[in-house]
Amino acid sequence: MRALVTGAAGFLGSHLCDRLVADGYTVLGMDNMITGAAANLAQLDGAPSFTLVQHDVTTFISVPGAVDAVFHFASPTSPADYLKLPIETLKVGSLGTHNALGLAMAKGARFFLSSTSEAYGDPQVHPQPESYWGHVNPVGPRGVYDEAKRFAEALTTAYHRHNGIETRIARIFNTYGPRMRPDDGRVVSNFIVQALTGEPITVYGDGSQTRSFCYVDDQIEGLMRLFQQGGSDPTNIGNPTEVTVGELAELVLQLTDSRSPIEYRELPVEDPQVRCPDIAKAKADLGWEPWISLQDGLKRTIEYFKTSLQH
Ligand code: UDP
Repeated sequence: MRALVTGAAGFLGSHLCDRLVADGYTVLGMDNMITGAAANLAQLDGAPSFTLVQHDVTTFISVPGAVDAVFHFASPTSPADYLKLPIETLKVGSLGTHNALGLAMAKGARFFLSSTSEAYGDPQVHPQPESYWGHVNPVGPRGVYDEAKRFAEALTTAYHRHNGIETRIARIFNTYGPRMRPDDGRVVSNFIVQALTGEPITVYGDGSQTRSFCYVDDQIEGLMRLFQQGGSDPTNIGNPTEVTVGELAELVLQLTDSRSPIEYRELPVEDPQVRCPDIAKAKADLGWEPWISLQDGLKRTIEYFKTSLQH
């Protein structure tokens, strides 16, 4: 089996490449390196079954030879990144998805879309089942990511229905773990780096907003099962253990033994108040649920940042 992974040098993309190579796939990784880093793939350097090419998937994708699977993981995903790169985010979700689907169709490959819990926006149904259509402001600051992914879901579904290609859509909820960029602006990496360097922990708003954090190994297992056993309907992959941002700050302080003070900052515009996946579908269809606790996952992530901050 030969797989193309777009966004291969990103946080999730690189973990997916590791898993595919370990499972015996030949993998072609593609990345334009605007938010990805070659260092995320250093462990695959010299592996005969892995190749990385630098390419922007918003332009035509040409891959000689057979391709059995296309995993479309390219996109800025941290709110801080997509606010800085709004046009790139819209283009990779629309043009990039179109090119990746076109390649999958030409090769007769199965297509996998990494979609997002942001498809639900600032949700008015809680927890969020796949049947919820969401609450998104198309012209709000987060619209560039949310609408790009919603369009990508619509396009993927149209290719499935109209062109008969095999597709999967994963709605990925907040995921964390080794290889997040220390400066990527997301809450887990920010809090850990701040705690380890003695900087203030920046809680946005009053910290009462909630998120549900999935450790990367659990996430990759869920995605692989969806790829192998799932159907074409969107499927939530995330950890349903919900915490407030304030609770996360306390937990990180405790696990790092840090004396960093907590500093409250302005809440970003239209920051979702709550977020938690309903994973009944993943449990029923895939026999999947996360098994790594927030405490254990944070410990592993803290170890990673301790090492990476020394270099
Ligand atoms: N957040 C925070 N401090 C930070 C970074 C983020 O309090 O330094 C909050 C943010 O406002 C949001 C939550 O943490 O409520 C998760 O933010 P993140 O950027 O990780 O991703 P999101 O879930 O918003 O896409």
